[in-house]
Amino acid sequence: MLSKNRKDNLFVAELINTFSWSISARDDFETCPRRRYWAKYAMWGGWKANAPEVARAAYRLSKMENRFTLQGNAVERAVMWALRQAQAGQSITTEQAYETAAKPFLNQRWQDSKKKLWRSDPKRHCCLHEHYYPAHHHTPEAEMPARMIAQIKLCLTNFMAQVLPGLSKIRPEAEAPIARAEGGDPESFPFETIKVYAIPDYAYRQESFMHIHDWKAGGAKPAHRDQMSIYGLWANTKHAIAPEHIQVHLEYLAPGATESTILTGNDLARAREIIRASAGAMAEYLVGGDIQQNQPLPKEDWELSADMDTCRRCNFHELCQSELESA
Ligand code: SF4
Repeated sequence: MLSKNRKDNLFVAELINTFSWSISARDDFETCPRRRYWAKYAMWGGWKANAPEVARAAYRLSKMENRFTLQGNAVERAVMWALRQAQAGQSITTEQAYETAAKPFLNQRWQDSKKKLWRSDPKRHCCLHEHYYPAHHHTPEAEMPARMIAQIKLCLTNFMAQVLPGLSKIRPEAEAPIARAEGGDPESFPFETIKVYAIPDYAYRQESFMHIHDWKAGGAKPAHRDQMSIYGLWANTKHAIAPEHIQVHLEYLAPGATESTILTGNDLARAREIIRASAGAMAEYLVGGDIQQNQPLPKEDWELSADMDTCRRCNFHELCQSELESA
């Protein structure tokens, strides 16, 4: 959030770390409270050259990706490119979508990571967990690109065959605008006093319905259904769509399976309870439990994970390493 303070007759914009919630923040917090501490609080201001070393490290590590998130982002880009081509009346193939939209992105992100370009700009240049913590991964690095490419092409093939035909007639004016992180502050909606981030992959109106799609390049997880309920709450809050006029589509592109559900009032009530319960649990780690002030308790009050496999996959491992070794 930006606040404006008057100083020497100039307006100076100052970033404020407001409390916010998202499904991924819930997952981080439930997996390990300390991870939420690093990702939300310790990293604050770490983009500044004169920030404390821990803040700079936490900020840099918060931007880290892994081959699965990279793969998912490549699929998302290629899917949207294919959709735009189809909507423009072009006939395209999996190879074209891969070569045009996925491959250049994949190559650039992989090479950025290999060359460690993130050292000068961690927000702009990718740092892959597999390159940063190579000892934490079993798959030989040389095998990773081929596996990623095969998975991306499988997802694109299934998308072209099963999903694209139903979406190619959607007109741009029927689409719901969705802010992306690349453009600044990503899509969010207010819930009670909480800013909730919710960024569906694709949403549009058709007759009296709003349809919300999310592309998944990996396997199904129980949290995906919660995520779609939160997207339903987004459609209800931001676009005033009644729950029974919201249809969500979980697109598992690798197996070529779609889970479509028309939501109910109970789904949205459950989404509200998910946010309240999770935000309430997070607030217990704030001074006075006050999410308006959003001041974290000391680092030591945010418990470490007890699961070493979780820690080996975590971006923040190097910040916890000495504590984990002495525990
Ligand atoms: S390394 Fe382990 S303890 Fe530290 S933030 Fe990550 S999951 Fe939590």
